[in-house]
Amino acid sequence: MEMKKSQGTSSGIVHRDIDRVIVSRGRIASRVEQLAREITDCYGPVELTILAVLTGSLIFLADLIRHLPMMIRLDVVSVSSYPGVVVESQGLQLKLPISTNLSGRDVLVLDDILDSGATLRAILQAVSAAGAASLRSCVLLKKNRPDLPERPEPDFVGLEVPNKFLVGYGLDYNNLYRNLPDICVLRPRAYRKGDAPA
Ligand code: 5GP
Ligand code: MG
Repeated sequence: MEMKKSQGTSSGIVHRDIDRVIVSRGRIASRVEQLAREITDCYGPVELTILAVLTGSLIFLADLIRHLPMMIRLDVVSVSSYPGVVVESQGLQLKLPISTNLSGRDVLVLDDILDSGATLRAILQAVSAAGAASLRSCVLLKKNRPDLPERPEPDFVGLEVPNKFLVGYGLDYNNLYRNLPDICVLRPRAYRKGDAPA
């Protein structure tokens, strides 16, 4: 069967669309393991509820929790299309699965990347309103944005990265490239016409 190329002028093979690797898979793996140690030292033997922000944090989540020794409950939150209960917060529409109960729980919000901080701010506000006993946040990547001094500061940060549009290790462009094992910048040809970041 002939497979159709997905979008624009991309090559159809994710690795061929990479311009440069910003964080290698080895660096990611060692930092994720260190982060797990920091989280373990901070919490001790609690029953921890991890609230992962869909979809970009999924690969980070899968790697991180396998280094965590405490009892873990897993929940997800979506800022786009996940079917479930809608929670409005700061202009963003958040969706939690109907079964999610965060009341009285020790909640760690997990996201892939902090950019403007709007997503994290909205989620923290919603989880706090849901009556969590404690609330912390962890991002794998934090974009260098000295222009945004008022951003919420996550309790745990994996790596600081340049203010560029990144893909790979869960991060997408147009819901593609999440399966790249490294965190990368794409070649301009991978973008749809008019979409290429400056
Ligand atoms: P913020 O609300 O902090 O501006 O953005 C956070 C969300 O935007 C992240 O959860 C992520 O989904 C998306 N995002 C921000 N920067 C990037 C990026 O460089 N690449 C990708 N793929 N997504 C990003
Ligand atoms: Mg996101």
